[in-house]
Amino acid sequence: DDQQPTYRRVLLKISGEALMGDAGYGLNPPTVQKIAEEVKSVHDMGVEICMVIGGGNIFRGLAGSAQGMERTTADYMGMLATVMNALAMQSALEGLGVFTRVISAIRMDEVAEPYIRRRAVRHLEKKRVVIFAAGTGNPYFTTDTAATLRANEMACEAIFKGTKVDGVYDKDPKKYSDAVRYDEVSYDEALAKRLGVMDASAIALARDNNKPIIVFSLDEPGGFKGILAGEGTYTKVTN
Ligand code: UDP
Repeated sequence: DDQQPTYRRVLLKISGEALMGDAGYGLNPPTVQKIAEEVKSVHDMGVEICMVIGGGNIFRGLAGSAQGMERTTADYMGMLATVMNALAMQSALEGLGVFTRVISAIRMDEVAEPYIRRRAVRHLEKKRVVIFAAGTGNPYFTTDTAATLRANEMACEAIFKGTKVDGVYDKDPKKYSDAVRYDEVSYDEALAKRLGVMDASAIALARDNNKPIIVFSLDEPGGFKGILAGEGTYTKVTN
């Protein structure tokens, strides 16, 4: 189709748990495949796509440290978990004929490219999906912050946060039937009301660089593509 997408370059952030399917842990390849198909449909529109995938389906630093592990070590384990998720996504996308690069913030040269900004930009220009792994490479951060950081560095026009619900609500829509979805909400309100868009440092970094965050449902088939075609329900977090 010849419709112009609303954004030409975006970053898609998904949590590790999105890859879990109905299992309580780890990676479910058919679920990864489904998400890869959503990504492909947007890639087919000519949109340049970056991805950041969390690691919470495998390991979270905070959980490890709560059980007595040294925090930074636990965080590095969390970052390594994101590399596994990135490789799974790479495999699924390439199976669909979409060329990709996994770029790791922690050097792992046999498995992924190191992060070199100009090189990553070049991959995007060549229409490769660039999957950023290992978060920011630093403990005490999250992949939400990594997503915002990379979206800034790659000059993405928006951060797409794929979740289980179709936006940001004033209260949990799975618990309260009278929960109201915001069409648009400011970064400051999202922060002040702790609306659970992303963690606070990620929202602040998006705000300070005026990077809109689109919160949408990844469970809705065709939803990601729909938004880029100017349709669908979502919440836009903006100034
Ligand atoms: N992590 C980190 N620095 C980063 C990104 C991630 O230390 O820049 C670690 C942190 O321990 C985190 C884990 O990796 O708990 C997995 O990432 P995250 O919790 O963001 O995954 P998600 O909740 O999105 O699945």
